[in-house]
Amino acid sequence: MRGSSHRQRILVTGGAGFLGSHLCERLLGEGHDVVCVDNFFTGSKENILSLLSHPRFELIRHDITMPLFIEVDRIYNLACPASPVHYQYNAIKTIKTNVMGTIHALGIAKRVRARILQASTSEVYGDPEVHPQRETYWGRVNPIGIRSCYDEGKRAAECLMMDYHRQNGVDVKIARIFNTYGPRMALDDGRVVSNFIVQALRGEDITVYGEGTQTRSFCYVDDMIEGLTAMMESERGFIGPVNLGNPEEFTIRRLAETVIKMTGSSSKIVYRPLPPDDPVQRRPDITLAKERLDWSPRVPLEKGLAKTIDYFSKLLPEVGTGPRPAGPGSGRRKPGVSKRGVRGKHDR
Ligand code: NAD
Ligand code: UDP
Repeated sequence: MRGSSHRQRILVTGGAGFLGSHLCERLLGEGHDVVCVDNFFTGSKENILSLLSHPRFELIRHDITMPLFIEVDRIYNLACPASPVHYQYNAIKTIKTNVMGTIHALGIAKRVRARILQASTSEVYGDPEVHPQRETYWGRVNPIGIRSCYDEGKRAAECLMMDYHRQNGVDVKIARIFNTYGPRMALDDGRVVSNFIVQALRGEDITVYGEGTQTRSFCYVDDMIEGLTAMMESERGFIGPVNLGNPEEFTIRRLAETVIKMTGSSSKIVYRPLPPDDPVQRRPDITLAKERLDWSPRVPLEKGLAKTIDYFSKLLPEVGTGPRPAGPGSGRRKPGVSKRGVRGKHDR
C-alpha cells in the first residue's frame, strides 16, 4: 500500500460515488482525515454507510457548482456523473459541474495551498484514431455531440488545472481514468459492466449496443484507487496527465459472453442501436504510469468480474439471496431512470 505516511486532511468531491467511496475508505485506512463532499446525484449514503460513524470521516452535502470554503491538504476532484446515461440526463449540469466545480475546487487549492488531483477521463481522447492512447495524443472529440458535455467538460477541467498551475502556481495532478468497474456501481448506473451483470443475474436480455465489436479496457476499482493515490503522492512537479487503466482490451460482445458464462445465466444477447459518438476502440498506453508511479493494474478481468458479480448477486433479491438489503443502488432512482433498475441508453 502506498500513499502519504503523515496524517493529512483530504477533501474528496464526489466521495459518495462509486470510485469516491472506495477512495474515502482507502484514505481513512491510511490514517487520514477525510471530508466527503457530494450532492448525491449519482452517489448515495449507502456507499459510505460504514464510514459515517468513523471519527476521522466528515460528510458535507454540497453541490460543487456552488463555492465551498474549507481547509485541507489534499483535494481529489471526482464530483461528476460518469455514466453516459447519467451525464446526459442533465447535460448542462454536467458541464457546469466540470467547469464551475473544478474552478471551486481549484479556488480552495489556491487559497489554502492544497495539492489537487483532477479525475479526468479517457473520454478526452474521444473516438481515437491513435491506438492505444498515449497522453501525448490530443484526441478526437465531437464538440457538439451528446457526449460533449462530459468530454469537453473534462477537457476544460484539464485546461483549468493547467492554467491555475501556470498562473497561480497551484500544485496540480491530472489522472486520465479509463473504464473502471467493481462493487458499489449503482444498479441503475447504465455503464456496460453493471448493466450486463445485472441483466445476466436477472435472466434478462443482455443489451449489446451496435454489433459489440467496439472495444474497452476494464480496470478493477482496487487497482484504480491504488493508481489515484500513487499519482496524488507522486513527486511535486509531476503533473501528468497520466493514463490510469487496464491495458487488456475486450470487445463488448466478448464481455457479454464472459458475463453470461461466469453467471451461468440463461440470458440471450440482443443487439440495440449504437448510440451516437460511441468510441470504436479504447485502450490505455500506461508506460508513463509504470515509469513515474511504478503502477500497473494487477486484477485480471475475470477475477474482478467475479467480485462484482458476487456484489450484485447479494443486492438482487430475485437471484435467491434473500431480501434485498439496504445497499448501494437500493431505492435510488432519478427521474426517468428505468424501474427495472438497469438503465439503457434506449430507455428514454
Ligand atoms: P459516480 O457517478 O459513481 O460518482 C460521481 C459522484 O459525484 C457521485 O457521488 C455524485 O453524486 C457526485 N456529484 C456529481 N455531481 C456533483 C456536484 N455537482 N456536486 C457534488 N457532487 C457531485 O462515478 P464514478 O465512476 O465514481 O466517477 C468518479 C469520477 O471519476 C468522475 O469524475 C468521473 O468522471 C471519473 N471517471 C470515472 C471513470 C469510471 O470508469 N468509473 C472513468 C473515467 C473517469
Ligand atoms: N454498452 C452496451 N450495452 C450496455 C451499455 C453499454 O453495449 O448496456 C456499450 C456502449 O455502447 C459502449 C461500451 O459498452 O460501447 C461502454 O459503455 P459505457 O457506458 O460503460 O462507457 P463508455 O466507455 O462508453 O463511456
